[in-house]
Amino acid sequence: MTTLAIYTHPACLDHDTGPAHAERPERLSAVSGALRDAFGDALRWHQAPRADRGALLRAHAPSLLEAVLETRPPRRTLLDPDTVLSPGSAEAALRAAGAGIAAVDAAFGGGDTRAFCVVRPPGHHASAGDAMGFCLFNNVAVAAAHALDRHGLARVAIADFDVHHGNGTQAIFEQEPRVLYAGSHQSPLYPGSGMADERGVGNIVNAPLPPGTGSAGFRAAWRECLLPALDAFAPQLLLVSAGFDGHWRDPLAQLQLQAGDYAWLTGELVAIAQRHAHGRIVSLLEGGYDLDALRECSVAHVRAMLPAPGQ
Ligand SMILES: [Zn+2]
Repeated sequence: MTTLAIYTHPACLDHDTGPAHAERPERLSAVSGALRDAFGDALRWHQAPRADRGALLRAHAPSLLEAVLETRPPRRTLLDPDTVLSPGSAEAALRAAGAGIAAVDAAFGGGDTRAFCVVRPPGHHASAGDAMGFCLFNNVAVAAAHALDRHGLARVAIADFDVHHGNGTQAIFEQEPRVLYAGSHQSPLYPGSGMADERGVGNIVNAPLPPGTGSAGFRAAWRECLLPALDAFAPQLLLVSAGFDGHWRDPLAQLQLQAGDYAWLTGELVAIAQRHAHGRIVSLLEGGYDLDALRECSVAHVRAMLPAPGQ
């Protein structure tokens, strides 16, 4: 039976960002609990393995591996004003990056072709050399680089609908024509990048959206700009940076989206994966800071990824 794989790990709860931080362990518990309640046995749950050093080095500099894995702080320390390293962070970061790798390997190895990685810390702000914006390793970039290298792919696409621009992912791949990065985000907003004229080597497509854009404007940007770019690229694998902080309840942004917008977009992304990638779509949790919105949106996202019976 074709189903959908979930990759997660309890160590991701041990990345301790402190009592007042938006990116907190309860986010992960909320998503996992909502998925179990909504789908029961329809999902196949896996423990995420650790990413190995070689896999991390495809996307990151040795200095970042050292900072995240070898510092071993006795208590919480700050890597930047938003980004915490706690005693449990190294293991959490290894599992978060390892989830995407395992999901990609399964998709190319006879396992489930669709997966959602319920992990933290998130990844898309981390650049080759720097942790930033709640992100330690760039989980989606590590997965993409692994797919290129280990599975010999010529075209890997990354769709990023987090409300913040995936500056780290863009920076890692802006000179890599085998990767297409296509994303929408609120602008102006942290981290300040992602203008439409940032094109890389023709492989970067950004749709900056003003605060208050709402459902119609968000869907128009994807329908008219980002989805056609993904379709034209004909990816052999579609990766998704799935942040749900564009939801109207989210405290960090003002894009005013609804869970139905994520369901719609996910359906469109699944269709692109079906057309070009033998259905291979691996989604990784990025942001989303209101727990009720996270529950609702992650269920909508997964429901839209679940294969229809008999498919
Ligand atoms: Zn975000």
